[in-house]
Amino acid sequence: MRPAANLKPATYRCPFCEEHLPSLMGHMLVVPEGDTRRRRHAHTECVLIERRAGRLPSRDEWLATQPRPERRSRLARLLGGRDTP
Ligand SMILES: [Zn+2]
Repeated sequence: MRPAANLKPATYRCPFCEEHLPSLMGHMLVVPEGDTRRRRHAHTECVLIERRAGRLPSRDEWLATQPRPERRSRLARLLGGRDTP
């Protein structure tokens, strides 16, 4: 996840507390592992609570928000696999 600075006035819905979230308010982008298209905007506070509760793995989330597909192969390498034939 990363801090989201969105200048576009839009309203999202926080996936954790189901409350509305004005984009101009400070919030975070949350990305489900392996699915960068389903990133959600969430209250920073809610994200921190989830993190603390251990329900939000943080390691690759920030990388997942980056438009680079190499994240998976890097993970595969870490797991001891070979990602290149
Ligand atoms: Zn929330």
